[in-house]
Amino acid sequence: TAETAARPVERRTAIAPLRSRGGAVTIHGVSKSFGHLKVLDNVTLTIPAGSVTTILGQSGSGKSTLLRSINHLERVDDGFIAIDGELIGYRQHGETLYELKEKDILKRRVEVGMVFQNFNLFPHLTVLENIIEAPVAVRRIPREQADAEALGLLARIGLSDKAHAYPRQLSGGQQQRVAIARALALKPKVLLFDEPTSALDPELVNEVLDVIKELARSGTTLIIVTHEIGFAREVSDLVVFMEQGRILETGTTEKVFSRPEHPRTAGFLAKVL
Ligand code: ADP
Ligand code: MG
Repeated sequence: TAETAARPVERRTAIAPLRSRGGAVTIHGVSKSFGHLKVLDNVTLTIPAGSVTTILGQSGSGKSTLLRSINHLERVDDGFIAIDGELIGYRQHGETLYELKEKDILKRRVEVGMVFQNFNLFPHLTVLENIIEAPVAVRRIPREQADAEALGLLARIGLSDKAHAYPRQLSGGQQQRVAIARALALKPKVLLFDEPTSALDPELVNEVLDVIKELARSGTTLIIVTHEIGFAREVSDLVVFMEQGRILETGTTEKVFSRPEHPRTAGFLAKVL
C-alpha cells in the first residue's frame, strides 16, 4: 500500500541527519522508565570526540542508567544514542524506527569501554589474562599481539611488575587501574567511568585519578560520573548536572562551576565544594 511504501523513506529521513552530526556520542530525546519510575526524561546531549565530560547529580538522578544506556546495557524507551554517528536503535513515541540485531549490538558494545565502581576483574585470571581476554575472544587479536599490547598498557598504568599477579594480590587502587587497562585494550571510541573511586580507601583514590587524568590529556573521549569534584573541575571540558532523570544544566566546566545557570546546580555545588 501507499502507506507502507512511504514509511522506509520517512525512516531514512528521520535517521539521515543523525549520521552527520559530530560527536563521539550523540544522545537525543532519550527516555527510560523502570515500571512507573521515569529514570531518564528526554535527555539530549552531544559529547564531542576527544572531550572529557563529567556527569554530576545526586544519588538516584539517573547517572548510571545513562551510562548503561550509552553502553547498550539498557534499551531506551524513546529517542536514540549514537556512537561515532552509528545508531543502535531509535524509538519515537514507543514505536521502533530502527534497531540493530542482538549480535550486532554485542559487537558495538565493544566500542564503548566501561569502568565500574567495583573493578569487576575476573578473580581466577591473572592481570595479563584479564586484559587480553576480550581482545582475544571478541576482537580475535592473535595472542602474541594481545600480550604485547597488554604489557604496553601495564607500563602506561605503572603496573608492569604485576602482569602475572592475581587480582586478590593487588590493592583496590591497583585493581581499578587494571580494570582501566582492560577497558583500553579494546581500543574503545569512548570510555565510561561510573564512580571509579567510590569503593576505594581514600589513600588509593589519587593513583586511579592520575591514570584517568593521563587518559584525559591523551585525548581519549571520557564520560565520568564522580563525586570527586576537585578532580572533575580539573579534567573536564564539559559538566552535566542531572536531577530526577533530567539534564538541568550543561556547559563548559569553567561556566558551570563559576556561573551555574540553574539554582539547583548552584545548590549542589555549594554543598560539595
Ligand atoms: P544514579 O546513578 O544517579 O544514582 P541510577 O541510574 O542508578 O541513578 O538510578 C536512577 C533511579 O532508577 C533510581 O531510583 C534507581 O533506584 C532506579 N533504578 C535503576 N536501575 C533500576 C532497575 N534495573 N530496576 C528498577 N529501578 C532501577
Ligand atoms: Mg550510580
